[in-house]
Amino acid sequence: MKLLRQVPKILFGAGAFDSLGEAVSTLKNSGYAVYIIDAVHAKTGLVNKLPLVGNDYSLSVDTTDEPTTDGVDALRDEIKKRSDKLPAVIVGVGGGSTLDIAKAVSVVLTNPGSSRDYQGWELVKNAPIPKVGVPTLSGTGSEATRTAVLTSPGKKFGINSPYSLFDLVVLDPLLARTVPAEQQFYTGMDCYIHCVESINGSFKDKLITVYVQAGLAMCRDIFLKGGEPSDQDRENLMIASYFGGLSIANSEVGVCHALSYGLSLELKFHHGLANCIAFNQLEEYYPNEVSDFKEMLERNNIVLPKNVTQAVSAEQMESMIAMTLLMEKPLTNALGPDWKNVFPREKILQLYARM
Ligand code: NAD
Ligand code: ZN
Repeated sequence: MKLLRQVPKILFGAGAFDSLGEAVSTLKNSGYAVYIIDAVHAKTGLVNKLPLVGNDYSLSVDTTDEPTTDGVDALRDEIKKRSDKLPAVIVGVGGGSTLDIAKAVSVVLTNPGSSRDYQGWELVKNAPIPKVGVPTLSGTGSEATRTAVLTSPGKKFGINSPYSLFDLVVLDPLLARTVPAEQQFYTGMDCYIHCVESINGSFKDKLITVYVQAGLAMCRDIFLKGGEPSDQDRENLMIASYFGGLSIANSEVGVCHALSYGLSLELKFHHGLANCIAFNQLEEYYPNEVSDFKEMLERNNIVLPKNVTQAVSAEQMESMIAMTLLMEKPLTNALGPDWKNVFPREKILQLYARM
């Protein structure tokens, strides 16, 4: 028996964003909402469409770098400075980075100390501010998971807690129309790799397998075809992203994520691209899926950076290896309880050296 955790309410479909205000109001009581929105939406115009009423306001976040614990703490301070009364709802609007920031802010508004105190498993004690997630870029599945991934000095790690789960998500594929093709490829591959790692791991069960198979089929269809995605593709990718997130939230990721976190931590590669660089070297673990991936790269005219670890210092490499070794659950899922023996530091070094 296993408990499946998932978001309780999903508002889904093209144009669903138009009902965001109504949906948020059901969580508000007589309070106010704070919208946390990716700064890119000043350019796309989405910021002007936020359904702000009464004392609601929005804060824009820069996602040039992946979210940090310092950044989350600063946002929490800003919200507390603006009013003695806590918001009733936090709404995150953007890609995985913005969704994770919104989740983490909702947690630290009601829990003492820094967000870095909660990076780990089941460390959050107090119920968070209710939260709504609105992805504008599909792939991370953050909208479905009980994780808010943050970087702090020396580590990239999630706030893994049932309190990191959204109360409501709005899945409107039209919001992803403005995403540049290359970015959509990298974040789309995050979804593909979530599905690959979940289905090849030992933590999955029958229920999860059905979601993963559906997610994988949609990813294969979109990315093996290549070219500019249609609205139908965007809708499918938003569903696949949700399924991929649901799958890893209820199983685990695997070898690729364990390596890509090191690349992001030390070399600042964004998650999707870091995953692609790592996955490209993992035929040994996921032979058929890596072969399909290489075809996806070609069909979508994507050329990955090469020799990215060539210039890293010995100290940086140590930090990357230490980061990988911290990923105990993904490595157990992928390689079994004996993973420390089959995946020693020499093997990790060898794989990083090839990237
Ligand atoms: P992102 O949120 O960092 O965004 C990437 C780029 O796309 C940014 O420049 C952003 O401004 C832009 N963008 C977003 N929506 C857009 C739109 N509609 N139009 C134009 N540009 C748009 O990228 P991501 O890949 O979605 O998220 C990566 C982050 O998600 C990483 O920090 C990773 O660790 C995290 N993640 C979290 C989970 C989880 O379960 N919580 C799972 C996987 C990844
Ligand atoms: Zn991922």
